[in-house]
Amino acid sequence: MQKVFIVHYGEVGLKGKNRSFFENRLVRNIRHALEGTEYVGVQRIHGRLLVTLSTYADIPEIQRRLGAVMGIAHFELCRVTEQNMEAIKDGALEWIQGHEFQTLKVETRRANKQFPLTSPEISAEVGGYLLKHTGARADMHHPDLVCWIEIVEKSAYIYTEKIRGVGGLPVGASGKVVVMLSGGIDSPVAAWRMMKRGAKAIFVHFHSYPFTDKASLEKAAELVGILAKSNHRTQVYYVPFAEIQREIVTKTPAPFRVILYRRLMVRIAARIAEREGALALITGESLGQVASQTLANLKVIEDVAGLPILRPLIGDDKEEIVNLAQRIGTFDVSTLPHQDCCSLFVPDHPATNAAIEDAQSAEDALEVDALIEQALEAVEKQTVNPSFS
Ligand code: ATP
Ligand code: MG
Repeated sequence: MQKVFIVHYGEVGLKGKNRSFFENRLVRNIRHALEGTEYVGVQRIHGRLLVTLSTYADIPEIQRRLGAVMGIAHFELCRVTEQNMEAIKDGALEWIQGHEFQTLKVETRRANKQFPLTSPEISAEVGGYLLKHTGARADMHHPDLVCWIEIVEKSAYIYTEKIRGVGGLPVGASGKVVVMLSGGIDSPVAAWRMMKRGAKAIFVHFHSYPFTDKASLEKAAELVGILAKSNHRTQVYYVPFAEIQREIVTKTPAPFRVILYRRLMVRIAARIAEREGALALITGESLGQVASQTLANLKVIEDVAGLPILRPLIGDDKEEIVNLAQRIGTFDVSTLPHQDCCSLFVPDHPATNAAIEDAQSAEDALEVDALIEQALEAVEKQTVNPSFS
């Protein structure tokens, strides 16, 4: 029995002239996501994608991987038959066996208008045949089982379960962004939300090694591996930040430390964005969550960016962010213990209402440009592939 996955995309299909650009991107991303599995190919067929499988493919694994690909609205495991009524009826009967049901409905979509019967005619004929052979009753409103039939190009595709995808747009279709990734809960979720809207994420992680152990580096690497299931082959920059922190701590007033850390991070991330052709920085900030995330402080931080800082979680409560972190699989890694580089030397009373002039005059004590160049020279860049486990 030949099995395939049919992939339906939602918004991707609505993009007019750009449609094939989006479709091609989705095809490429699916191929990346399925690398190492026994799939045979991915092709476009009439507003859908077809993922063909070898007979010994690990179907649950392929299903899990497709479930993380951005831009898929829903997908389904199908039985493929020839495009004639005998083959469709036999195929449908075989496919629904093994399901428990008392009531049944058949629903048909006919993309190939050359096929001699209309969709309602196909549903009626296949439905009658299935009812006769299973003893089930027809129920058009609340059936236990729906048998879908799609007549596309030269084949018929039969399925009984629609699997929801993430939705959104294919990663890469909206350009590149640089995500400032800490080891915490929020920034991986922020990255995921941007990837969902088609942005390819490049990650930047600042670490204080050797002031701290390597836990934050290891966590960042692990988080990137999880996010790469949707972002595919992923670039990550590890930036040493200990020297900059030491300078800030010894040379500037304590209340501004966190803001100055952030202004330095943002400047460095902006340089990496320039190098990579990324058009925005992404953070996991949420309004008012901590002292550095007041409107006044966000403004002081943004002042040195030179490109937009997007904050997809700005209006989210912690609970909403935690729920999403659990759903996308980053929560357990994010909550492992580590020393956040920015919680080192944080004063008891950080400024919550800093003015840009205050930050600027505090920075007069620093060799800002030299610190940035030093950090950039010591950057380590890695390519991370998705960690499927
Ligand atoms: P998170 O849960 O993402 O760590 P948070 O609520 O702890 O966020 P902060 O620690 O104030 O908030 O950090 C705000 C944002 O700054 C983070 O969401 C992240 O985008 C960025 N950031 C903080 N620390 C780092 C770091 N070490 N490396 C890269 N980006 C960082
Ligand atoms: Mg944090």
